[in-house]
Amino acid sequence: MTKTPETATTPDVCIGIDLGTTYSCVGIMQNDRVEIIANDMGSRTTPSYVAFCDNERLIGDAAKNQAAMNPKNTVFDAKRLIGRNFSEATVQADMKHWPFTVVPDGSDHPMIKVEDYLGEKERLFAPEEISSMVLIKMKQTAEAYLGHPVSKAVVTVPAYFNDQQRQATKDAGALAGLEVLRIINEPTAAALAYGLGTDAVKSAKKERVVLIFDLGGGTFDVSLLRIDGGMFTVLSTAGDTHLGGEDFDNNMVNHFVNELKLKHKKDITGNARALRRLRTACERAKRVLSVATEASIEVDSIADGFDFQSTLTRSKFENLNAEMFTGCLDPVRKALKDAKLETKDVEDIVLVGGSTRIPKVQQLLQDFFQGKPISKNINPDEAVAYGAAVQGALLLGQGSAATKDVLLLDVTPLSLGVETEGSMMSVIIKRNSTIPCQKTESYTTLEDNQTDIEFKIFEGERPKTADNHLLGEFMLRDIMPAKRGVPKITVTMSLDANGMLSVTAKDEATGKSNSITIKNNRGRLSADQITRMLEDAKKFNKIDEAVRAGQKSKSELEAYIYDVENAIPNLTAAKLNGIPELEEKIAEVQEWIAEAKSFTKEEVELKKKELEKAYHPMIKQLYQANLKASRR
Ligand code: AMP
Repeated sequence: MTKTPETATTPDVCIGIDLGTTYSCVGIMQNDRVEIIANDMGSRTTPSYVAFCDNERLIGDAAKNQAAMNPKNTVFDAKRLIGRNFSEATVQADMKHWPFTVVPDGSDHPMIKVEDYLGEKERLFAPEEISSMVLIKMKQTAEAYLGHPVSKAVVTVPAYFNDQQRQATKDAGALAGLEVLRIINEPTAAALAYGLGTDAVKSAKKERVVLIFDLGGGTFDVSLLRIDGGMFTVLSTAGDTHLGGEDFDNNMVNHFVNELKLKHKKDITGNARALRRLRTACERAKRVLSVATEASIEVDSIADGFDFQSTLTRSKFENLNAEMFTGCLDPVRKALKDAKLETKDVEDIVLVGGSTRIPKVQQLLQDFFQGKPISKNINPDEAVAYGAAVQGALLLGQGSAATKDVLLLDVTPLSLGVETEGSMMSVIIKRNSTIPCQKTESYTTLEDNQTDIEFKIFEGERPKTADNHLLGEFMLRDIMPAKRGVPKITVTMSLDANGMLSVTAKDEATGKSNSITIKNNRGRLSADQITRMLEDAKKFNKIDEAVRAGQKSKSELEAYIYDVENAIPNLTAAKLNGIPELEEKIAEVQEWIAEAKSFTKEEVELKKKELEKAYHPMIKQLYQANLKASRR
């Protein structure tokens, strides 16, 4: 007899993936520590590149290394396309710089056109598909390290990504065979990597503001976060979607192209291969200049068999990029201004992205914050994946003692609500509410015996729904007929951890309900649109306040008319004088309401006074008549 062998079970793990514009990174938290996992080339970051060659598909370093030979079929920057529409201005602008072709599909989605792949003359890929291929590479990297399959991940996105971009990123995960347990904001992940959430929990001062300064290869993001008892809230974001290490490389390349022209009479401007080799040498020198004050540049046989050799000092490098370096402080100022904070309010400064290793960048930032120390103990290329890995472990209940109190909640970028009387927005979930969340509000009917109610769901900050963004609509039918204002209809909105919104309306009397789930494919707003809407809301604040006040007075006036109308049978029974005049006045005011396009509080109050003038004497008469009757 022998014991049946125990079947090997795959451990339940959740990896953290930083799906970057230029590079991606994967990590896992095990036994209280995070491991950033190196790929098959030994690199801890992997280029977010996919190349389609005749019979094979290359991902990561292999794809990037052959980019120059196969530019039309080497795809990168998919993150700049994901969840966006083809017609968006940013897509149109980015397209001009890509060697690959992007075309719209029938629904205005951008599609990447690849030629001569697997025997097909032409093939279209959605950005989600390209990102899924990068995610597959990250998944395989983790699997090779762990020695077992991996099916769960936390993936990070920029804080300014809207629902559609988040959902598209989640879809990319699903295409890669990953269950994306949570999409989290990159600055949140970085803060988590520095243990700031846990510090905040432990320290006496519960609430702290953290600046995340993320300067990568091609993008620059600044975020201010508030961490309060393990809860993370993005206060503001700013940045430049087209600034990063590659721009510093370009400035160096231009410098040496000039040097070659002037000193060596070699013009390499149209020589793609020479430029590419020079760029690689410059990037290497740039990294050296982060730790040394001088670096050498050597490119053998750069053109016509000429061996190019030169040097660059750190101060020259800083001169070449001076404008860009100092320009990095503008988004910091903007983020502070938007969050209504000053430099002294910022507790921690966290560096993310390889380009933050540049000493000048660090110094400028430190000077701006009056010498405040900068958190540097985590590799800036890896901080985001590190935080995602911590979050992954937390979700599986595998966090360490230090992270057990961290909740990690993100917030809604815009308020969500339903349309009410007069096409007004009634907010149910306020902007900046932490996600996931659920809120219920009560509504009622406008007409007597109304049986159907239409619900229109909007996002935005303006009081008039016309200025907000319609997300979806549905009807609640066959509610119990009753007088206006009597039925109680509860509307519950819930937003899940990935920003998926569901709305349910229920008639409390009959228990009847109807609901809608608002998913990705509903043409949600772009980040640009969200920013514009928030700016509009600020700009129109005064006008909006007046609209709200006018609308409120109008509702009060309507309720008053309703009361007066309901009193008429009593007035008639008491045989009072002046009833026709009162009815005429009611009709006049109702007509005025029907015809008015907008309402000011003052105008509405004037109308109410006119009606009161007709109604109050009658109430007095009725009161006296009743008094007489009771004395009799
Ligand atoms: P990321 O997108 O965060 O991976 O950042 C990559 C960018 O950081 C590239 O432009 C790199 O050239 C740059 N980078 C990486 N290491 C250094 C370094 N030691 N000094 C300066 N730039 C660096």
